[in-house]
Amino acid sequence: MDKIPFYFSVDFEDYYHDKRRDLGHNNPLFKIKSLWKSYEIINNYCNKYLNSKKITFFTTGIVAKEAKDLIRKISDDGHEVACHYNYHDSIHKSDRKNLINNLEIAIENITNATGIPPKGFRAPNFDILPSDEWAYEEISKRFEYDSSFITNLPLKKICPNSKLSFKNSELREFFIFSRNFLTKKFKLRSGGTFLKLFPASFTINTMKESFNKGHFVILYMHPYEFLSDGEFMIPFKDFNKYYFPKNVIKYFRQIQWHKVGNHSIESKIKKITSVFDHQGPMKNILIQ
Ligand SMILES: [Zn+2]
Repeated sequence: MDKIPFYFSVDFEDYYHDKRRDLGHNNPLFKIKSLWKSYEIINNYCNKYLNSKKITFFTTGIVAKEAKDLIRKISDDGHEVACHYNYHDSIHKSDRKNLINNLEIAIENITNATGIPPKGFRAPNFDILPSDEWAYEEISKRFEYDSSFITNLPLKKICPNSKLSFKNSELREFFIFSRNFLTKKFKLRSGGTFLKLFPASFTINTMKESFNKGHFVILYMHPYEFLSDGEFMIPFKDFNKYYFPKNVIKYFRQIQWHKVGNHSIESKIKKITSVFDHQGPMKNILIQ
C-alpha cells in the first residue's frame, strides 16, 4: 500500500526564554546550547526516518536574533525557516497594531539570519481563532501560507481551494486538524504533547482522518520534545510569584513537556514514517 503524504514541521522556540518572559523576568535569557542540541537530533532524524528530506522550522524572531548562527545553519542545511511570530505571545489577545509590529520585527530577524524572507507563518500555540479575521488578513499581506487554523471540519466545508480571501490579498491555509476523541470535549491533534503522551496509533489515526477529510497532513513538534534531561525546564524559584500549592503545581506541570514520553519520540516517529511519507518543506506545497 502506498504511504500517505505528510509534512514534518518543528515550532522552533526557546521554551525556557518564553516561559520566563511570561513569568515577568526582565532578562529571561536563552538556552542556545539546548537549541543546538535539539537541532542536531532533529536533523539526524531527518536523515534516519525522512529519507534525508528537509523539513520546515517555524522559528520565533527572537530565536532568529539570539541564535542567529544556528538559524543560518538550519537554512544552509537546506531546511525551510518559516516564522513563528517574534515573541511566543498570544495573537488572539493582541491587537492589529501590535501584531503588525511583531510580524515586521520577526520577518526582519529571520531574514537577517537566513538571507531569505520567510514564506510561511504559524501562530504561537495556534492561538488565532477563526473569528480573528483581522489577524489572518495582516498575515496574508506578509506571507504566502499560514498554518495556525485549527479545525475538525473537512477541507471542502471550510475553503475547498485552501485559500482564505481578503479585500486585497489571499492566504494559503494549511489547517491543523483536530479529531474528536470519545467525547466532543476531548480533541486530539497530530503532534506535540499528543504524540508524547499517547500511543503512536492515536497520532496516526488523527493524521489518517486529516488526510481523509482533504487536508494536507501535518505533524508538528517542539525542540524540548527531542531532549529528555529537562534542558529547557524553569527552576522552582522562578515560580515564586505564585503561592503554595500553585507554585509546586506549575513547576511539576513542566515535567509533562520536558520529561514524560520524550524517550518514546524516536520510536513513535519511526512508526509514523512506516505509514506516512514526508514530502519535504511545507513551502513545496505552494508549487503543487
Ligand atoms: Zn510555539
